[in-house]
Amino acid sequence: MVSENFDLVVIGAGTAGCLAAYAAAKEGLSKIALVDRKPQKLIGKKICGDGIGTKHLDFLQELGFPIKENNILANIVETAHIISPDKKKDYTLPVQGQLAIINRHQFGQTLLEETLNQGVKLFENTTFKTMKRESKKLQMQLLKDGSETITVTTPLIIDGSGINSKIREELGGFDDNAQLKDEEQYYCYREICRIDSPPEIYVNNAIFEFSFDLTKGGYKWFFSRGNNEYNLGTGIPKSWIKKASPKDVYQNDMKNRFSDIDVIDGGGGFVPTRHPIPTHVKDNIILIGDAGLIVNPLHGGGLSPSLASGYIAGKIAATQVPNENLSENDLWIYNKKIHERYGLRYSILDLYRILLQNIPDGELNDALQKEYLPLGSIFYAREYDVLIKLSRKLGEIWSQLPNPRFNRLPEIIERVFECTNRYPTTPEELESWTKEYRGLFAEYYELIAVR
Ligand SMILES: Cc1cc2nc3c(=O)[nH]c(=O)nc-3n(C[C@H](O)[C@H](O)[C@H](O)COP(=O)(O)OP(=O)(O)OC[C@H]3O[C@@H](n4cnc5c(N)ncnc54)[C@H](O)[C@@H]3O)c2cc1C
Repeated sequence: MVSENFDLVVIGAGTAGCLAAYAAAKEGLSKIALVDRKPQKLIGKKICGDGIGTKHLDFLQELGFPIKENNILANIVETAHIISPDKKKDYTLPVQGQLAIINRHQFGQTLLEETLNQGVKLFENTTFKTMKRESKKLQMQLLKDGSETITVTTPLIIDGSGINSKIREELGGFDDNAQLKDEEQYYCYREICRIDSPPEIYVNNAIFEFSFDLTKGGYKWFFSRGNNEYNLGTGIPKSWIKKASPKDVYQNDMKNRFSDIDVIDGGGGFVPTRHPIPTHVKDNIILIGDAGLIVNPLHGGGLSPSLASGYIAGKIAATQVPNENLSENDLWIYNKKIHERYGLRYSILDLYRILLQNIPDGELNDALQKEYLPLGSIFYAREYDVLIKLSRKLGEIWSQLPNPRFNRLPEIIERVFECTNRYPTTPEELESWTKEYRGLFAEYYELIAVR
């Protein structure tokens, strides 16, 4: 049995974990372990839509990651479209130069390589199994190559182990509010394909289609990788996948849509699709990326928040570890940053996710056609203030409509707005705040849920 001490252990070498370890090392922390259950050469290989804002790639390049040099970019799309279930309404978003489709494996390998260049020690093929508290430290059990047990001790764990984080679900002391309900995660089936003569709308574009009839309130995506290659997929809420398999729905649709598809790669994976959890920290623990459910709830897009949350956590680790300031209270600064950057906007977007998941196609067609649900503008409202202003303006129309899914929404948006702006400043206030916060989403869901 091997035993080692580290100043910081990061679980998961995905986008979040790499950025956390990288930032902590760059800011001066020296004994950092990065643990991943995959072999080194497969790290970064993940079933994904591969869409990310170009500004995040620029940020990485500025930090020193060789994004341009390593051929990370597959394509920059010209326009993005959101299309109604009856295909009669097409919102075109002016995303020129802003949305990239990347070569995902190469991207992950580049993040990893640069992180290891900072002196971080990688434990590849090594699964985090369990942990226990030992005075002011955490003792972790890792399993290498399926047989060798490694014990590591550290004052801080940053957990970037993805949607099924064991620390969030059972070991870290997070409560039920950190657990994903079935309707708060989508199973996505995705293929990378070659299509030689697709209809014009798919060429160099990114398309989203929402529908209750076809995807149970989930979505289909069609992302052009350039050179006749496409990243295509279908996501369906987990609460429905026994009745509607994403793979079957996807394959039936593709048969009808394209005549000449060559599949290069296919597979599935879960994405969280809800507001971030109320707290991402406990004594000696920080959750980042999917492990902290920090994703855009409308579609589960989590590449950019995983990069940012990892980077923020790594920087905080570098200042807090040397001073031994690692209590829940000391780490609250991370919660504050994540809440301001993502929690506020994603909380409002999560109400729109609940709406989209529970609106019949006929009503969605009407709402899109008559523009009282301008999905394009909602998707594109990247600033919190813009989203709130838009939602309030729309609320004036919704309050006149007969259905509670619309006429109750303005009031619930106001209450979520008011509640999120009172985000706790200390852990002591968290419990009562969480009850109110989670209750608001549950209330809207119960009001409109289609089961
Ligand atoms: C089908 C699909 C399509 C998507 N499309 C997009 C998109 O187009 N744009 C976008 O922005 N986002 C998209 N996402 C979401 C995005 O991929 C994630 O949000 C992002 O990868 C999260 O990064 P992460 O580092 O937090 O977690 P992950 O990328 O999941 O990394 C977790 C790492 O932890 C390791 N690990 C897990 N458990 C353990 C353990 N016990 N011990 C050791 N290591 C462990 C894993 O091997 C993995 O390397 C998509 C996701 C899916 C599934």
